[in-house]
Amino acid sequence: MTIYYFKRNITWFLAVIIIFALTQLSTSWLSLFVAHFWLEHDSVQYIAKQKLNFSREKSRLSTIVLPNTCSSDVRHSLNKIDYSEPEIRFVGLVLDDLSLCSANGVISHNVDLQPTTYPLLRYISEATSQEEIAVIIKGVSNKFIVFLNKVRLRDHFSLYCQSCMFYQLKLSNETPPPAQDSTWFIVVHDYGQAKGYLHISKVLKKQIDEDYFWIYFLMYCAVFSLLILIYKLYLSKKQNVNALLIQAAQKRQFIPFYQPIVTPSGEVKGVEALMRWQDNSGAILTPNVFIDAAEKLGVIDKMTLGMIQKAKEDFSINCQNFEFSSFFCAFNLTASQIESDNFIDRLLSMFIDYRGFIPAFEITERQEFNDKEAAKRNIKRLQSCGYQIKLDDAGTGYGGFSYFLNFNIDTIKIDKMFVDIIGHEDFKINVLNAIIEMAKSLELTIIAEGVETQEQVDYLSEKKVDLLQGYYFSKPVPYHQLNITSRLSPSTGQ
Ligand code: C2E
Ligand code: CA
Ligand code: CA
Repeated sequence: MTIYYFKRNITWFLAVIIIFALTQLSTSWLSLFVAHFWLEHDSVQYIAKQKLNFSREKSRLSTIVLPNTCSSDVRHSLNKIDYSEPEIRFVGLVLDDLSLCSANGVISHNVDLQPTTYPLLRYISEATSQEEIAVIIKGVSNKFIVFLNKVRLRDHFSLYCQSCMFYQLKLSNETPPPAQDSTWFIVVHDYGQAKGYLHISKVLKKQIDEDYFWIYFLMYCAVFSLLILIYKLYLSKKQNVNALLIQAAQKRQFIPFYQPIVTPSGEVKGVEALMRWQDNSGAILTPNVFIDAAEKLGVIDKMTLGMIQKAKEDFSINCQNFEFSSFFCAFNLTASQIESDNFIDRLLSMFIDYRGFIPAFEITERQEFNDKEAAKRNIKRLQSCGYQIKLDDAGTGYGGFSYFLNFNIDTIKIDKMFVDIIGHEDFKINVLNAIIEMAKSLELTIIAEGVETQEQVDYLSEKKVDLLQGYYFSKPVPYHQLNITSRLSPSTGQ
């Protein structure tokens, strides 16, 4: 007990150390992400607000009519505009001599009125010697120059340090300012004709790294815990399904249903055993619900062998006085079962001294062999006992020609997909014809699967396909409903 708790605690302790190290390693990246996220977010809001201010200012100023002098009334009006708009730092009325009238009187200005930059102007602040951008707003009879307020982002980090950011404005056709040694990253604001470059200093990085470290740590802890939880849920579900399948196999709930395989004239030559799960409630489940899971969980072998045993028992009750001389019962095997020497040993041992149907085995072309040599060896072992190997789902999978060349297959089962083409004007019918021709040239027995209509029966008979299987003749049925002695026709199949 003590050892258990010790082991458990040491695991948690190690996990915390790993998360701590991970946090340290990734702090820089996370801080960059956090800072970028918030500053970009703030920038979008800031630019939208600036645009709104300008358009509002434009519509307001364009209706104002002031005399082209710098009288006290004019200065008073300009003063009112300055104060009523918090985002506008300064509004100047452009006088005829190109000097500016401000709320404080006439000032000379160094605004560069280049036509190419209209309505944006470069302005070098006399107070700070920094470049700023202004706009010209043309009214009914006046021209105003409006300066933006100093950049004030609704910024999440302004509390940290006042000098963490500085702003540069450039016209869009000018080369962007280079990053400085102290620059962490730059956020660009696009105003159309001008661009704002917000330089974020490394000082901010240091502050965020320190302040957010434990938040990152807790975040990693949360993600880690969630992953563990998901993994545990997955494990318990897997164990549940596994236990359920093993229990069902022990209770012999995996039973065969049989589907007759007939000549075109309806004479039954054999059957395919298709697995069904008869659960506790008696409901019958088809393989698509459980075969894949059974294979992944490694319980398929037990299920297959159990079902084959049941088939042997079924056919030992021969109430139909049937002569089994060449009658086959085909079982589906997975690629990994064929590759497993141990599974084939167990399979062969089931038929020692058995005198009923002739076992046949179907391997699907949809699964690839990992160990082709083992597959070849085991197919040979089955064939040397006189058991046929049928290639299932031919034409749909990995194998193609290599199956015939490598594995010495006896029979091919043409997939329903190709049989369905019959009766439809479709060039793919040539593929079906080609598969049939190829199988004939290799002297293989041909079975067509999924036959449902008279038209398909006629076409396949005409093409000299040896055997047919499908709902047209019979659906898969339990042994007591299986009719193997009389000829099957559509009426018996429905
Ligand atoms: P499959 O080996 O290709 O078996 C033929 C499937 O087509 C069967 O479905 C059968 O019921 C269905 N089928 C037969 N004739 C017709 C028809 O005329 N129309 C239509 N629409 N369907 C028809 P099922 O029984 O649901 O089996 C599905 C697949 O599950 C099988 O395909 C096979 O790959 C796999 N399977 C079945 N039993 C076993 C088994 O014991 N072991 C393994 N490993 N796989 C099995
Ligand atoms: Ca099959
Ligand atoms: Ca098939």
